Amino acid sequence: MIEIRNLQKAFSGTQVLKDISFDVKEGEVVAIIGPSGSGKSTLLRCLNYLEQPDGGHIQIDEVVVDTTKASKQDILNLRKQTSMVFQHYNLFKNKTALENVTYSLEVTKGYSKEDAKKRGLALLKQVGLESKADVYPVTLSGGQQQRVGIARAVAVNPKVILFDEPTSSLDPEWVGEVLKVISDIAREENATMIIVTHEMQFAKDVADKVIFMSDGYIVEEGTPEQVLDHPQHERTKQFLQKTL
Ligand code: ATP
Ligand code: MG
Repeated sequence: MIEIRNLQKAFSGTQVLKDISFDVKEGEVVAIIGPSGSGKSTLLRCLNYLEQPDGGHIQIDEVVVDTTKASKQDILNLRKQTSMVFQHYNLFKNKTALENVTYSLEVTKGYSKEDAKKRGLALLKQVGLESKADVYPVTLSGGQQQRVGIARAVAVNPKVILFDEPTSSLDPEWVGEVLKVISDIAREENATMIIVTHEMQFAKDVADKVIFMSDGYIVEEGTPEQVLDHPQHERTKQFLQKTL
């Protein structure tokens, strides 16, 4: 369903994504791991054009984009296929939890206020926050804010949900509940997900495929057992030893 070929990105002459190619099947959960600075966030941000790639091909479902000649319409079409969950939640601070979830339903999906509210409440329930619908983000814990962020990302029914280290700015006590919400959605909705994470146990439990990136390349990819338990490359072995 997702086909990435030869994706490239440089920042002021430094090549950050060198030649990235991989596939994701419908309903698959892909975990991307790798050292700091290896290009994981840049890769996710290129997939939804938060960063403009320098070259390569991105296909998500029926939207096919040659990044060297993408039109504005191509980019809009591609963005509609994805939603993103950020490390720092990025909720609207002046909107309630419910409004955070319903906003894009009304603005980009054309839901009536009433229908958006219905779906918004159902999603908040799914992430265990129905009782917090009318409160503002500042009164929520980090874990609760991130669960709102996840409900918001799921709301628009994207073809793929992109997660950039969704738990790494959380206090340890909130990490488990957020990981559980993500794995519940992966299972119950059969959602397609690409998750950048440092949580190796989570990757083992939830991912169908693990991609190890280093220095702008995919060094190796495979099942969690292959990559995490039986890595083939020295670079992967070194990285995993450090994270144990
Ligand atoms: P981390 O695990 O620390 O989040 P990462 O694998 O997500 O790291 P990226 O954020 O993709 O790494 O960054 C890859 C490289 O690109 C880094 O050297 C970073 O400094 C550089 N970089 C990222 N974004 C920009 C930008 N907007 N302008 C210039 N350089 C950037
Ligand atoms: Mg990053």
